[in-house]
Amino acid sequence: MALRLIRTEEDEILYKKSKPVKEVTERIKQLLDDMEETMEANNGLGLAAVQVGVLRRAIVIRYEDQLYRLLNPEIVECEGEVCGYEGCLSVPGKHMSVARPATVKVQAMDENGQSITIEASEQLARVFCHEIDHLDGILYVQKADYTQPVVYDSDLTEAKEAEEDAQTDENEEK
Ligand SMILES: [Zn+2]
Repeated sequence: MALRLIRTEEDEILYKKSKPVKEVTERIKQLLDDMEETMEANNGLGLAAVQVGVLRRAIVIRYEDQLYRLLNPEIVECEGEVCGYEGCLSVPGKHMSVARPATVKVQAMDENGQSITIEASEQLARVFCHEIDHLDGILYVQKADYTQPVVYDSDLTEAKEAEEDAQTDENEEK
């Protein structure tokens, strides 16, 4: 396995449509291995092949204890709508609110070339929608609700530091 470079939002490849995977070759398995390692190393919930510069319809998702390595994933059914904050390894440092379906049914091919169907709700449904959008050249910031505040990682760090400082002050007073 090897870490691959994650492309960021100024890279035009992220806006291109990925091509279907016709056959599960050793090269595709290697790609999935590398994507998995790259996702884990960056604490991501999911990664699409295009984010490491490969225009193939392949995604990896780590959700709770479950790992998904999928080819040609497609949303075949969806229901409801939920707004929630999302981030992306290709748009580092910030989070924005996006409306997504509450539940989705995803059809895909697994590494054995078998067709599988996955039903997902809430956060996992959101991750599937986000990753499948990548395969169509869409970044979440293009769908985000710009009337909602943008949350920056630096804000979170500052909030955490302020909290830690407050705790330190308390301790010093004792
Ligand atoms: Zn992303």
